[in-house]
Amino acid sequence: MIPAAFEYHRPTDLQAALATLQEFGDEARVIAGGHSLVPMMKLRMATIGHLVDLRAIADLKGIRIDGAAVRIGAMVTQQELIADAALARAAPILRETALQIADPQVRAVGTIGGNVANGDPGNDMPALMQCLDASFSLVGPNGSRAVKAREFYEAAYVTAREDDEILVAIDFAAPGGGYAYEKQKRKIGDYATAAAAVTIRKDGTACSAASVAMTNLSDVPVWSKAAGDALVGSACGPADVGRAVAAALADIAPTADNRGPAEFKRHAAGVVIRRAIERAWSRA
Ligand code: FAD
Repeated sequence: MIPAAFEYHRPTDLQAALATLQEFGDEARVIAGGHSLVPMMKLRMATIGHLVDLRAIADLKGIRIDGAAVRIGAMVTQQELIADAALARAAPILRETALQIADPQVRAVGTIGGNVANGDPGNDMPALMQCLDASFSLVGPNGSRAVKAREFYEAAYVTAREDDEILVAIDFAAPGGGYAYEKQKRKIGDYATAAAAVTIRKDGTACSAASVAMTNLSDVPVWSKAAGDALVGSACGPADVGRAVAAALADIAPTADNRGPAEFKRHAAGVVIRRAIERAWSRA
């Protein structure tokens, strides 16, 4: 299908992009890689009068690592996340997750900002950002603010971002320790039936910190505090992992769709959460 007609804007700085959003109000929407938005426009599930392309805004690009502090510009593509050697050293879970998104064509243009701003529960980066306790930097007509990834998602496609705000960057502290992103999908390039992001730190033989978050198992990404708490202080043996998996499963609310009934998704969730914890622990 062909999208409805729209006006195309290509600002070269953030202020101009914000001014265009202000000028056209509900009629305007920013476009990043377009790999979530354009399909919606083609299906006529979104009709947008004015598209504000963010690609010419240099301030939205780049990955900066300063000690443990990591800042990723909203317009960094999934491919750039995969290729960045310093990021792979500081937070290799980004690369592991990005490699499981779609296919090389989509990853070459799809951005981390579009992935997290979209609010699609099937997107992989939101749960990872919750796992890492990332903050999203938003800029709007009233200035800038930061919103925690764990507080950003309100319902499917509904986030804490106001329509006239632009996500400029994502910040988090490099987690250290072990990590894993496990994703069960129907075929290469598909969205997750169930996926889990886990980071674990080890002190001697015991787990000293753990974070568990999940993709596509509710209408929002789910960070399970109880699952992390179940691991801390333990040696991550089978019974400890079992308790953490049970705690994580208590926090999800999968629904039936073309990836299967809710019970199947719950089963798949149990498998990916267990695998992610075991792999993260083995790397810690
Ligand atoms: P766009 O499509 O341009 O924008 C998406 C939404 O976010 C729009 O509403 C837009 O207005 C808003 N937005 C974008 N950037 C900003 C910003 N800086 N500030 C404020 N709002 C903004 N994704 C996965 O996670 N996992 C998958 O397995 C997966 N499989 C896919 C398979 C196919 C065949 C396709 C086409 C896509 C797939 N995707 C998948 C989605 C892909 O990763 C998208 O590129 C990504 O979700 C959105 O990024 P984008 O840059 O394309 O954003």
